Amino acid sequence: PPDVEVLGKSSWTLLHAIAATYPETPDDKKQRDMKQFLKLFGNFYPCWFCAEDFTRFMAKNEPKVETQDSLGRWLCDAHNEVNAKLGKPKFDCNLWKRRWKDGWEE
Ligand code: FAD
Repeated sequence: PPDVEVLGKSSWTLLHAIAATYPETPDDKKQRDMKQFLKLFGNFYPCWFCAEDFTRFMAKNEPKVETQDSLGRWLCDAHNEVNAKLGKPKFDCNLWKRRWKDGWEE
């Protein structure tokens, strides 16, 4: 199976990048599609225990697909949930756009 850390870092990069290019005011179809995408992402994510936790998180915290900012913050919360589980520092979600839209070097 793929390395959980390598897979994770690339996957978060993809997910946050998707949020950063999601429309600021998505129409109903875009919102439905995004919910579907996240659900399917949880179905097919190739680390089964990660996928299970992510799906559980989504069941308790419905994806906020109303605006680009709400989606970005929701994803940041989802990522922070994993950070907490792994003992990694919590990321300041006010900075999600600066990190993933404007971009900064680590
Ligand atoms: P990552 O956590 O991959 O983060 C990459 C970069 O994103 C960071 O350097 C930082 O700049 C930025 N960042 C950090 N936190 C946030 C945030 N909250 N919002 C926005 N940007 C942020 N690993 C496990 O061992 N067990 C699991 O159960 C597990 N579940 C996962 C579930 C999903 C859906 C995904 C995508 C990954 C999961 N992972 C899991 C992998 C784990 O989250 C990390 O990706 C992996 O440990 C590599 O960590 P990293 O230190 O390279 O940084």
